[in-house]
Amino acid sequence: MSASQVSYTKSQRGADKVIHEGFMHTRHKELARGVKWRCDLRGECSGYLVLNDDYKIIEKGDHTHTADWGRCKAREFVVSLKKKAERSRANHFAKDHFAKKCNLKDIGSNIAGNLVD
Ligand SMILES: [Zn+2]
Repeated sequence: MSASQVSYTKSQRGADKVIHEGFMHTRHKELARGVKWRCDLRGECSGYLVLNDDYKIIEKGDHTHTADWGRCKAREFVVSLKKKAERSRANHFAKDHFAKKCNLKDIGSNIAGNLVD
């Protein structure tokens, strides 16, 4: 991952967060030119990013503190664990759904078979 790229994660409450160079940002507001993301140490820091529709940084404000990759990675890790749990639930559902579809198809081919006979 190149240092100038942004990555997305979620806050504990499920709000979107953007990680950039070890800083975390929370969604602030939509501007005509993109979306403004503010440093999540609000009040302490005025760092921000403005991202366009392609998630490219078109503007940024400097942070007044050092980057904290540990904090960012910890957040990403928690989110990835949650995603894993969600995925396995989704897989169960997909299997059930597939099984039902197969049954329907079998019934369908039986009917077709009867018609041919
Ligand atoms: Zn900051």
